[in-house]
Amino acid sequence: MHKVTLIMGDGIGPEIAEAALVVIEAAGVNIEWEEVGAGEGAIKIHGTPLPDATIASLRKNGVGLKGPLTTPIGSGFRSVNVAMRMELDLYANIRPSKTFPGVLSPYRDIDLVVVRENTEDLYAGVEHMVGSDAAESIKIITRKASERIVRFAFEYAIDHNRRKVTAVHKANILKLSDGLFLETARQVAMKYPQIEFEDRIVDNMAMQLVQKPQQYDVMVMPNLYGDILSDLCAGLVGGLGMVPGANFGDRAALFEPVHGSAPKYAGKNRANPTAMIMAAVLMLRHLGEKEAARRIEAALAAQIYEGKTVTPDLGGAAGTREMAAALVRRIKA
Ligand code: NAD
Repeated sequence: MHKVTLIMGDGIGPEIAEAALVVIEAAGVNIEWEEVGAGEGAIKIHGTPLPDATIASLRKNGVGLKGPLTTPIGSGFRSVNVAMRMELDLYANIRPSKTFPGVLSPYRDIDLVVVRENTEDLYAGVEHMVGSDAAESIKIITRKASERIVRFAFEYAIDHNRRKVTAVHKANILKLSDGLFLETARQVAMKYPQIEFEDRIVDNMAMQLVQKPQQYDVMVMPNLYGDILSDLCAGLVGGLGMVPGANFGDRAALFEPVHGSAPKYAGKNRANPTAMIMAAVLMLRHLGEKEAARRIEAALAAQIYEGKTVTPDLGGAAGTREMAAALVRRIKA
């Protein structure tokens, strides 16, 4: 029996989280869920988008599954996702974008992993007004955080039989901050001679990913570039509804879809649950439930390939619930 913290999330969160829960249950994994609040929903109940009990639960259980959270703009609250990653020092964000055969996309055979530094860069939240007509946001890059994220990328590459790590940066312009990231990446790479290493400037990387995505494998980068390029990679494999994410620290791991709360689809039973289900697959592997993870992924791949009971973004007409129910039948069959 595993004990896992569960955050259903805002917007489409509860619908896709429900889909992931029924699928995990169908695969026969025994999990005791500890449901806690976070996000917009938690403000109404607890007066804060990130209650202390939520962080305490994640610290205690060490593993969490989380739906997307809405960050209210201009309300004075910081992003709950960023706050959670900082509180728990979840420094590595892994976002694998892999083609499911049959998915609606002009690209085939994509298999890319973005390793995003999760604790600093422009997300450190150091911003201030300079008078009333100018603002400054400070980009922070440290050797310590750069070193551990690049090391994480190489260790990930070894553990997952990957061949190459590409460091992404803008060191030609940001000579000190991204310069430090690149210099550190080069030093760490020397300790892993068995894995190929190269670097790319982020703007060129964006173009290369559109034109020659198959040339890339694992990519490691500071926070903001990771946020942007992982959405680009999601676009190569059928959209945001397809891509899961995992946040790792030394003491906790939190699994979630890459996408946000898509408020326009909330309560409409039309959100694609794939990203959330794949986040659950990553979580099951982390928990050592490799066979259940394999069965869920294989059933999902077969269902997407068949293309009948899938959501509208995948070219189907099924709702979130119907797609999940068909998946449950397939897993049990
Ligand atoms: P979003 O990812 O919620 O949605 C962008 C678009 O992608 C949607 O309009 C929809 O067309 C599509 N999409 C996303 N998920 C989908 C799914 N499962 N099925 C089908 N289509 C899907 O991004 P946004 O609109 O910029 O942000 C909405 C809210 O989510 C904001 O408050 C933002 O801060 C938050 N957000 C949270 C997270 C997170 O919790 N990790 C990540 C990103 C954004």
